[in-house]
Amino acid sequence: MSWEVVIGLEVHCQINTKTKAFCGCSTTFGAEPNTQTCPVCLGMPGQLPVLNSVAVDKTILTGLAIAGDINLESKFDRKNYFYPDLPKGYQITQFTVPLVEHGHIDIVTKSSGAKRIGVTRIHMEEDAGKSMHEGLDAVSHIDLNRSGIPLMEIVSEPDMRSADEAIAYLKNLHQVIRFLGVSGADMEKGQFRCDANVSVRRPGEPFGTRTEMKNMNSFRFIKQAIDYEVVRQIEVIEDGGKVIQESRLWDSVKNESRSMRSKEEANDYRYFPEPDLPPLRVSQLEVDNIKAGMPELPHQLRARFEAEFGLSAYDADVLTQTRELSDWYEALVAAHPADPKRCANWMANELLGRLKEMNKDLAHCPISAQAFAQLLDRMADSTISGKTGKDVLDAMMETGVSADDFIEAKGLKQVSDSGAIDTMIQTIMDASPNQLEAYRGGKEKLFGFFVGQVMKASKGQANPAMVNQRLKELLKAS
Ligand code: ADP
Ligand code: MG
Ligand code: ZN
Repeated sequence: MSWEVVIGLEVHCQINTKTKAFCGCSTTFGAEPNTQTCPVCLGMPGQLPVLNSVAVDKTILTGLAIAGDINLESKFDRKNYFYPDLPKGYQITQFTVPLVEHGHIDIVTKSSGAKRIGVTRIHMEEDAGKSMHEGLDAVSHIDLNRSGIPLMEIVSEPDMRSADEAIAYLKNLHQVIRFLGVSGADMEKGQFRCDANVSVRRPGEPFGTRTEMKNMNSFRFIKQAIDYEVVRQIEVIEDGGKVIQESRLWDSVKNESRSMRSKEEANDYRYFPEPDLPPLRVSQLEVDNIKAGMPELPHQLRARFEAEFGLSAYDADVLTQTRELSDWYEALVAAHPADPKRCANWMANELLGRLKEMNKDLAHCPISAQAFAQLLDRMADSTISGKTGKDVLDAMMETGVSADDFIEAKGLKQVSDSGAIDTMIQTIMDASPNQLEAYRGGKEKLFGFFVGQVMKASKGQANPAMVNQRLKELLKAS
């Protein structure tokens, strides 16, 4: 009998605000350690937190984007534990009543098609500081710049049944968050990190015991960690053992996970209501205003690209991965409106392909959408062929030269003048009387020979369609 995998995900996402959740300290990344701190985020006794309303608005916006319910009254609680990077001895979080509940995210995977994944809740909380051990000789340092930075924790229902579904959910959520602009969601900077809860069961049976892989910040590691954990749990059970509920840590160097702490030794956080913050109240009017300012979401943008520009679902998906990509594409279409599909093909295949080879992202593209449009114009008006177009693009990407300047300088202009083409054909026919006679005698294969000769004589610049057409007529005549 087979096993069914059950996955629920918790995502911690840094909300991009100028200042921290409960004080005025800067949230800028990469500053000297402990230069962005104050008595509040250092956990000095007697300091009072003041809630950052921008963080609240961005959490509400995220909640609305995933079709969640906004609780007009939510609460803050204290989660008590001791750790060197938490000087207060407690984290302010929303435990009993979160700001957002009951949302969902729609995913599509190859294995299970379209599926809706429930989002249990989104709550606000503050980040802890950072312990630093690396490169230090037997001592640890603490950087409290991150202490008090606002986070939203997005908790899913245990609705996913494979690592692929989990990754699809995460990518979808990541994309929505980036489109909303509520977080940089830069995974390398730890702005979007994931705890994966995994269990296995026989189909139809109740959920099995879960383990939790903590704090992963790459899609690849998350997939590896889930796959590893599924195999490990099945082995434990099939060997007659029991999975114990525990937190585990993924080691991306050894490609294995190890136990951090089991539930028995887990902290009892002794949650209680945060006495220094009143309940968080928002009005329906505020929620409606935030909703009115909702930007276009990825799925809406994809649908619009398909309808407005006639793109395939695949192309629309490629060109809407980021707002940056879709903006570039729309600028391109504005500059070359005659053929949005040509724009999509050339951008997706030729431009993005070259950028990838150059190891560059679109922000560092050597040419503008307008310059790219000029190249497309020259192919559309038959100045150059598609084949020459690719060479011109190579030069543009390398040196930033414009299409027109390069075509001019290298004399790449295609010969589309029928008089000039007829003259070339006549010269070839005069020079090849035997072939001409054989062709006219029925050896039609020789057509290719004449095409080749004319193209050669024109140094590849004769318009191939015209050469074909004129050859058919001139070879026929006697
Ligand atoms: P905790 O704070 O103990 O991690 P939470 O309620 O915050 O608890 O998160 C629990 C997460 O674990 C949720 O994402 C939920 O979907 C998931 N989960 C719960 N039970 C299971 C299970 N049996 N297998 C896999 N995931 C589970
Ligand atoms: Mg958890
Ligand atoms: Zn501070």
